Amino acid sequence: MPNLEKFSIGVGDRFAREAKAQLEAVKKAYENGIGISPVWNKSYREHQIIGSSPKSTIEAVQKAVKELNWSHGYFLDADHISLKNVDFFIDICNFFTIDIAEEINASLSEDEERKLRNLILKLGFQTQLANLPIFQWNESFVANFLKTYGKALLEAQKIYRYILTKHSRQQNVIEISMDEGPVAQSAQEIYLILYLLTQLNVKLDTIAPRFAGLFLKGIDYQGNTEQFKNQTADFLKVLQWFQKHSGQPEHLKLSLHTGSDKFSLYPILNRLLNQFQTGLHLKTAGTTWLEELIGLCEGGAAGLQFVKSLYRSAIAQMDQLLQPYAAIVRIDRQNLPLPDELDNWNAEQLVRSLRHNQSDSLFNKDLRQLFHISYGLAAQYGNTFYELLETYRSEIERNVTENLFDRHIKPLFLGG
Ligand SMILES: [Zn+2]
Repeated sequence: MPNLEKFSIGVGDRFAREAKAQLEAVKKAYENGIGISPVWNKSYREHQIIGSSPKSTIEAVQKAVKELNWSHGYFLDADHISLKNVDFFIDICNFFTIDIAEEINASLSEDEERKLRNLILKLGFQTQLANLPIFQWNESFVANFLKTYGKALLEAQKIYRYILTKHSRQQNVIEISMDEGPVAQSAQEIYLILYLLTQLNVKLDTIAPRFAGLFLKGIDYQGNTEQFKNQTADFLKVLQWFQKHSGQPEHLKLSLHTGSDKFSLYPILNRLLNQFQTGLHLKTAGTTWLEELIGLCEGGAAGLQFVKSLYRSAIAQMDQLLQPYAAIVRIDRQNLPLPDELDNWNAEQLVRSLRHNQSDSLFNKDLRQLFHISYGLAAQYGNTFYELLETYRSEIERNVTENLFDRHIKPLFLGG
């Protein structure tokens, strides 16, 4: 593999314009003594909404790599793939996030059920991993577990094998994700999931469980942070066991899909990473696009006018925009200004409402979520939008780099 560091960060670049500014932020981390592999992630859904392809992302990334003389590894993530869309990514990507969420609760044939049940029963009815309470199960637990995860794990094996028909295992990162599935996992379930994947000869670099609490797009975590801390610590213990005692790679690590900006979790995660001396992949979403909007507002009148006009369209088409994001965006419509009202705002008001600074009295998380899902509208403006991105390049890049380094990398990986 082209050297995936112990720490890695997934970033989104909706319009393939900000790879350099994002890479600058990661470069600053290396300058501060922490190696973090950059991973550009963009899902099939995002490509469809914009009408882009992985080729545009990799070209932008390669250009940035050249301009900054980047000598470390970098990755392109086929984000949340299934057998249906893996071919869209397969030639270009070197990081594959195999999404099994859709197959959770799908039915198994009797043969499949028997095969998986026998694998679990090889363990007997309990196991104890270092530092964790004894995991115990009985026949009915196993039946329920397989009803929930059995088909999904067999599907993971299929996609995994398919990827390996085109790529060497060593040159690629493989992740299994369940974060968009219907249920959160317990440590015991993660243990059994990893055990079965090992038995099915699926070797992982990272695994993304679903955590308790809400991970909405572009805003902070909503849930019990103490519970998150305990759940994460248990997951890390399970992973450490698999690193040492099983056929999984020693660098197997936890992947946390955040939907971006889970600021209240960063200090907790930083302490856990120190405590366990373990790696982490942090996946953020396309909030770089919001920094583009902030840069446009700060840049000048034409930029500000564009953002106001985009907002008017977003309000008019809010229902369609929300459709693909129903489960991961929650907008309180009462808290959104009317477009006429927003037209009277100056740049500072708009920037302070949009920028994710929770201590700013003007910050509006509903406005932020609406802009977050409006990137498809910006794409419809075509060259008008792309030219503005060039006109206000320096303001945009400053915001993109600052956001990624100061608000994400620093608190999470540097602990400050
Ligand atoms: Zn995800």
